[in-house]
Amino acid sequence: MRDTATFMILGNICTRNCAFCSVNKGKPLGIDSDEPKRVATAVKDMGLKYVVITSPTRDDLSDGGAAIFAETVREIKKISDNIKVELLVPDFQGNKEAIDKVVLSGCDVLGHNLETAAALYPFVRKGADYDRSLNLLNYIKERDSGILTKSSIMLGLGETVEEIQLLMNDLRTVKCDLFAAGQYLSPSIYTYKVKEYIVPETFDAIEKYAYEIGFLASKCAPYVRSSYLADSFISSKK
Ligand code: SF4
Repeated sequence: MRDTATFMILGNICTRNCAFCSVNKGKPLGIDSDEPKRVATAVKDMGLKYVVITSPTRDDLSDGGAAIFAETVREIKKISDNIKVELLVPDFQGNKEAIDKVVLSGCDVLGHNLETAAALYPFVRKGADYDRSLNLLNYIKERDSGILTKSSIMLGLGETVEEIQLLMNDLRTVKCDLFAAGQYLSPSIYTYKVKEYIVPETFDAIEKYAYEIGFLASKCAPYVRSSYLADSFISSKK
């Protein structure tokens, strides 16, 4: 047993509409201010040692839900400071006050996914902005260089290897520490179709490249997902 789990907070309805994603889209419900305490209670009851907290994008909230993310970290850390908390956050529309809230939360890893190559954003990530996401990761490091930053992508959406290397170089330019890549699988017949099944050798080459350009830890394989073996990134960093 790994004593790890991932929680999705701030509801299950997203205000964006990425073509590859099956999270419900529409008008989200209001904030549940008790949610941080309830997540912490679940963490305690389950005896977890490493927790990933994520959410759908909440563009309807002035801070994108950053305060709830931060409060959830604080409630978990009240149980024990030894519990590691990784946040996987949306882009908060680049709102620096919102980003500050999660930076100052006491989390151990702060992740934001680029998801795919810049060239594919207009087709699969309408509402997102590649540069805004990079700027978010850059700003986190400017505010606190001690926080480990992480970003994950999916392969098989129609990107080229060169575009992925460019993305990885961009991530290193903003001092991103941890990198993960996995095979995209279409979650339903209504979502973006898989363009290519990437062979394991290509994943191996991408992981090798990640270490060559300075990522502290990387996992690249068909079955890898954002929070896959999340706890092992810290323990395996070089
Ligand atoms: S922003 Fe995230 S949760 Fe929302 S549709 Fe895109 S990938 Fe899915």
